[in-house]
Amino acid sequence: MSYTSSIYHIVFRTKYGNPTIPNEHCEKLYRYIWGFTKNKKCFLYQINGMPDHLHLLIDLHPSISLAEFVQTLKTSTNKWLKENSEYFPDFESWARKYCAISYSIRDKDMIVNKFNALSENYLPLDLVKVPHAGKADMFIREIALKDYKKLRESALNNNIDLVITSSYHSFYYQQSVYNYRYKQNQINCIKKTAFAGRSEHQTGLAVDFESETNENSHYKNLSYFQFLEDNAYKHGFILRYPEDKVAITNYMYQPGHYRYVGKELAQELYQRAITLEEYYNLI
Ligand SMILES: [Zn+2]
Repeated sequence: MSYTSSIYHIVFRTKYGNPTIPNEHCEKLYRYIWGFTKNKKCFLYQINGMPDHLHLLIDLHPSISLAEFVQTLKTSTNKWLKENSEYFPDFESWARKYCAISYSIRDKDMIVNKFNALSENYLPLDLVKVPHAGKADMFIREIALKDYKKLRESALNNNIDLVITSSYHSFYYQQSVYNYRYKQNQINCIKKTAFAGRSEHQTGLAVDFESETNENSHYKNLSYFQFLEDNAYKHGFILRYPEDKVAITNYMYQPGHYRYVGKELAQELYQRAITLEEYYNLI
């Protein structure tokens, strides 16, 4: 018998991407899906989502095809959601398309830039809410959370109240940001803003840091930028667009934009003073 991997990361969205699965009731839907997959003799490793989409990490039983599994799951959750409309009053239906990719755990070193794009369907599996984020809710991948907390702690010990002001962006969000900025100022937009699919923020591994303790001084001298340059790599984060690498990254210097790559790789990139592009020989 030949070996076929049947572990998939499946994502599907609500119709028009409307936020119709409220956070306070999603648990009930997840529990229903657990039961459903058990009945199909499949194994659900993980399930989570946001009000407009669901993620499943699942090991399919050989007796069921991926297409069949997704189709029956969508049909039966659709019915269940309607039967439980007191919790999901706005739910209409699921979007027709879905996305399934075979799962790889080694993707924290993935590269996304102007030449290596993510598909519109790429959604990180393990998004979690960032504690101590700025004003709005922020999400990053769970694999980066522990190290982020350590970095923040170490910043606090240096009187720097580090916050994340931007993290995961969906493909569609990035598209709207780009369009908006392009209308405002074409040149600036092209220099600074990534086209949809080409933003690292879609990986859930890129963050923009700010500090609430320093304000309005000339940014290069802000102590928290210096702190980050000297310490972020120890916790797995690298300065992604350094000042002396503009010709390589094709992005302007962004002192607050960091990318989680894990401690080992971060250490190496820092010591060799190279970017991800150089590491992968992409220049
Ligand atoms: Zn950024």
